[in-house]
Amino acid sequence: MRRDGLTQHTSARPLLEIRGLDLDFGTPRGRIHALRNVSLDVPVAQVVGIVGESGSGKSTLAYTVMGLLSENADIAAGSILFEGRDLLKMAAPARRNLLGDRLSMIFQDPMTALNPVRTIENQMIDIQHHEQRGWGEKRARAIEMLHRVGIPDPQSRIDAYPHQFSGGMRQRICIAMALLVRPALLIADEPTTALDATLEVQIIHLLKDLQKEIGCSILFVSHHLGAVAELCDRVVVMYAGEVVEHGAVRDIFHNPCHPYTRALLECDPGRIRQTTRTLPTISGEVPSLLGHKKGCIFSARCPQAFDRCVHEIPIEHPTGLEQTARCHLLDEERLVSV
Ligand code: ATP
Ligand code: SF4
Repeated sequence: MRRDGLTQHTSARPLLEIRGLDLDFGTPRGRIHALRNVSLDVPVAQVVGIVGESGSGKSTLAYTVMGLLSENADIAAGSILFEGRDLLKMAAPARRNLLGDRLSMIFQDPMTALNPVRTIENQMIDIQHHEQRGWGEKRARAIEMLHRVGIPDPQSRIDAYPHQFSGGMRQRICIAMALLVRPALLIADEPTTALDATLEVQIIHLLKDLQKEIGCSILFVSHHLGAVAELCDRVVVMYAGEVVEHGAVRDIFHNPCHPYTRALLECDPGRIRQTTRTLPTISGEVPSLLGHKKGCIFSARCPQAFDRCVHEIPIEHPTGLEQTARCHLLDEERLVSV
């Protein structure tokens, strides 16, 4: 186990290394501590899922990596190393250069990424501005990618505008645009939430195939545990701005060690895969993120909370080869077994 609490799961350096990230939003009501001491790795060519209830900080984390935060955001501490360079210390032009080149993003609403008054062709050619290729070649690559993501008749459809496509087709176009540049890291923020279940399955399979083909890493934010089980190699469970557990998908789904993860899964992975499209409801509410917290962030809702949980912040404990969880019970269990 490393000193920062993360387990070493590959010999190669991870593509993305987030360490001790603290982020607040300034609001008229006070500072919202949206991310607290968040650390996670995205290894090369792996898919890492981030799950957690609404308000747990998943999107904030994704947007922080992309450098797309609102003006009231304040990164109080931490680092985000991407290919070994700290994104938080990089000059703005260098950081902008990474976007749409080494780093791409797919948003929940495709219209966030697509310009409604420009044709798909214009937008797919613009996104290749880093490439030293002529217009004809860029158009051909765009058509090929549209074909790859299942847009019928891409030769003529490339000249259409976004509103001339269905929601599912628009999300496919966004995936085509994001992957056309062959990024090292694709950040997907709930890319299937707005789609119906059949389309969601198709998009997940598409992402899986393209990820293998391109060899990129994906940071996949999702409410859908079945989609995470299907697509991801690793999973990070967030609660109220903290990472409470992380590990290989099979380990987390078969042996969840944090009471919050157990509450989320609440049934075996087979059942999740077939029937659960959204996170199960856990009684109680995510706590307010205003002000500083004492003790374990989950204590007010945890069925196993005890005295220590209210006063002391739990540290990460290794619970498997590549799995850690932040819970005092794991400490107590170890003391009992010594
Ligand atoms: P969801 O699944 O609903 O998208 P999430 O896990 O992605 O939720 P975030 O959207 O990252 O959670 O929000 C984390 C916390 O930060 C929430 O309490 C949210 O209200 C707050 N927050 C997010 N953006 C801002 C902002 N610009 N200003 C103030 N508070 C914000
Ligand atoms: Fe529950 Fe305590 Fe563990 Fe927090 S530290 S998850 S309150 S048992």
